[in-house]
Amino acid sequence: MEIQENKNIYVGVQTVRTPNINDFYMEIKSYKNILVFAEVCDGKVCENSLELIGEANRLKAMRNNDSIVIAALLGFGVKSYASELFGYGADKVVVFDDQKLENYRSDLYGEALAQIVKSYHPEIVLVGATALGSELAPTVAAKLKTGLAAHCTALKILENGQFTQVVPAFGGKVLGDIYIPNHRPQIASIKGGITKKLDFAPKDGVVEDFTCELTGFDRMKVVKVEKEHENRKSLNEADCIVVGGFGIGSKENWAKLEELASLLGGANGCTRPVLDAGWIDNEKAMIGTSGVAVRPKAYIGIGVSGAAHHTCGIKDSGLIISINKDENAPIFACSDYKVIGDYKKIVDALIEELKA
Ligand SMILES: Cc1cc2nc3c(=O)[nH]c(=O)nc-3n(C[C@H](O)[C@H](O)[C@H](O)COP(=O)(O)OP(=O)(O)OC[C@H]3O[C@@H](n4cnc5c(N)ncnc54)[C@H](O)[C@@H]3O)c2cc1C
Repeated sequence: MEIQENKNIYVGVQTVRTPNINDFYMEIKSYKNILVFAEVCDGKVCENSLELIGEANRLKAMRNNDSIVIAALLGFGVKSYASELFGYGADKVVVFDDQKLENYRSDLYGEALAQIVKSYHPEIVLVGATALGSELAPTVAAKLKTGLAAHCTALKILENGQFTQVVPAFGGKVLGDIYIPNHRPQIASIKGGITKKLDFAPKDGVVEDFTCELTGFDRMKVVKVEKEHENRKSLNEADCIVVGGFGIGSKENWAKLEELASLLGGANGCTRPVLDAGWIDNEKAMIGTSGVAVRPKAYIGIGVSGAAHHTCGIKDSGLIISINKDENAPIFACSDYKVIGDYKKIVDALIEELKA
């Protein structure tokens, strides 16, 4: 599905401050390889990180310059996860195993990852845009004084070799191509579900231990770790997702969408304005650049206009059905079936039919 033609937007272009231009280009050229931050969560490597290793392999193939994919594995007692990272496509795993990294802290993880990047000189660094990654990526970018494109919806390598990060801009109306021409590494964060992991194939690779002094902020201490329990069906497990947009009009109307999803054995998703308005309390239901990307067999969008911020999260859905009263709503451009009309009558009729 093509959302919209890309517009070239030059965001964050920085000036060259190096006194000697040749030194500058030598310095830029000394950066090679693609490094993926391998996030460990609840005793396993995050799906998002495995997907990024797959994406790094796709970029590596386009780079055609003997680049390798390096996974940076940080934590305490995490070395055993290296074999999984190799199986999903890492060529080398750098392990920073330290008790200080047992629990995530942005100061310590920021220092650790920045030091790994300084030592390995990767040209590109990919970080999952999870809650942790969304904090860690800018922390590392600031420490290294380099550029970061957050919540990318696609990554490309142009014919001239330019690494390009695609991010929706101007309220999702255009997709901007972001370049970081003068600084290295080029850091990108991407949500889970947007890129694809490779099929697992056991293989050997090089494991390198890394260590450095971690000072962090003295005044910070982890006192207690509380895990959020999630009982709801995850959007990634559901074959059918009924998504409510701002067009549903009110919190009271949300119940209709829940009934429809339950009759279809599916789950409910939403757009950002619905979450912001508090019509739904499940943050994990938001689909798009700031939420999750989904791949259900069927997506039913109700009162959803179709901003790129949202549609980038549904592009791999099997069937896209949209209900909207505006026949010119952008969502119809990427829909397999379009139903034009007031959703209330349509959803009521659907519920009645399903019950019968
Ligand atoms: C940095 C940034 C990140 C963002 N991230 C996300 C994100 O992750 N996910 C996301 O969804 N958005 C995100 N947004 C917001 C995004 O740009 C859009 O504003 C949002 O997706 C629009 O939501 P909507 O379609 O529900 O609402 P609207 O754009 O208000 O559309 C409502 C639609 O409902 C239709 N409608 C109204 N009444 C009825 C009716 N009775 N029957 C049928 N149809 C009806 C209207 O015709 C309209 O098309 C982000 C924005 C920014 C700036």
